[in-house]
Amino acid sequence: MNLSYWEIKTWFTDVDFTIIGSGIVGLTSAIRLREKFPKANIVVLEKGFLPQGASTKNAGFACFGSLSEIIDDLNIHTEEEVLNLITKRVKGLQLLREALGDMIIDYQNLGGYELFTKENEALFDICQNKRTYINKLLKPVFKTEVFSFEDNSFHFQNIQPKYGFNRFEGQIDTGKMMDALLKKVLRLGVKIINTCKVESFSEDNTTVKVKTDLFEFSTSKLLIATNGFASKLIDQPVKPARAQVLITKPIANLHIKGTFHLDRGYYYFRNIDNRILFGGGRHLNFNAEETDQFGQTKIVQNSLETLLKTTILPITNFEIDHRWSGIMGVGTQKKPIVKQLGNNVYCGVRLGGMGVAIGSIVGRDLADLLE
Ligand SMILES: Cc1cc2nc3c(=O)[nH]c(=O)nc-3n(C[C@H](O)[C@H](O)[C@H](O)COP(=O)(O)OP(=O)(O)OC[C@H]3O[C@@H](n4cnc5c(N)ncnc54)[C@H](O)[C@@H]3O)c2cc1C
Repeated sequence: MNLSYWEIKTWFTDVDFTIIGSGIVGLTSAIRLREKFPKANIVVLEKGFLPQGASTKNAGFACFGSLSEIIDDLNIHTEEEVLNLITKRVKGLQLLREALGDMIIDYQNLGGYELFTKENEALFDICQNKRTYINKLLKPVFKTEVFSFEDNSFHFQNIQPKYGFNRFEGQIDTGKMMDALLKKVLRLGVKIINTCKVESFSEDNTTVKVKTDLFEFSTSKLLIATNGFASKLIDQPVKPARAQVLITKPIANLHIKGTFHLDRGYYYFRNIDNRILFGGGRHLNFNAEETDQFGQTKIVQNSLETLLKTTILPITNFEIDHRWSGIMGVGTQKKPIVKQLGNNVYCGVRLGGMGVAIGSIVGRDLADLLE
């Protein structure tokens, strides 16, 4: 596309910082760059008409890890690494809440629960046995006990008699959070260009040439915040992981309130607007879900519906209202990749399943790579 003289002069001349991706990370890094460089010309390029990755698609859990997840993480990470990860998530959530305000993002501290399936008594036992050890490990962060076990007062079926409870877990309205972030970025005079996909970039000593599907331009610095799509542009160990979600129609007198992790966190559900939002099932076919293509599969959707009927809402009538999917960026390590890749190119990617929690910190750290 041939841009006009005005378009080139107004939007794409003397660009100081270009950020690819308008998810939590890209937008937070734009805000941080504006704080550090009040006069800079900052442009965000986004391939979707709205952010089209994970930030507008997620379940809105304001969480930092369930008991079984933390125990699992300790199998591949040291205690120090796990503690660092959890500290980052807690700090990230604080940052997000402070930046946007609890009322605006509808933050509610309703607590988080971990349900153990009837078949997996072994995991239930492990979690009960290791609870005290994990609580002790987390004491420096929370100063008090995090995990306890409670009776099944929500009357879920086909699960162990008690579930894990985490009183520090909360939930947000994902749409409100992203709407507030986008408005904040625009108020700060950052330009967001939607439906503009970056195809490649190349750099010399002082500038980076950016080639999009519509036009080309130069920028002084390039920040890549494309998470699950990162491997399309850079060579870093991050893979796409699709996550499928459904939501019920409103249910009268819905008794379930909180955020819930089921079967090692492979399934998750919560209340929102008198509905149940339910996602997960990626483990049923990891290979098929290692994709950056949006979509639903029968195997995952059937398992979500079956669990809704048999475990979550066994005696309540419900109808499915809507289904969607989002793309996460994952790797063998849970640590995000925040680093300088070239003279003037930087990335903040691989947020995994907890980007609501760490997105703000990753965005800030990404911008802080620039002096
Ligand atoms: C279904 C689902 C449920 C989740 N639930 C939770 C939860 O409850 N709690 C939690 O903490 N986390 C959750 N997550 C994870 C969390 O949403 C992500 O970790 C977080 O949103 C990642 O933010 P991001 O900015 O790094 O990436 P994204 O939000 O994916 O942003 C990347 C952006 O880059 C754009 N982009 C990519 N390539 C290009 C290109 N070439 N040119 C231009 N633009 C490009 C994409 O369109 C996208 O908008 C969930 C994720 C999913 C998918």
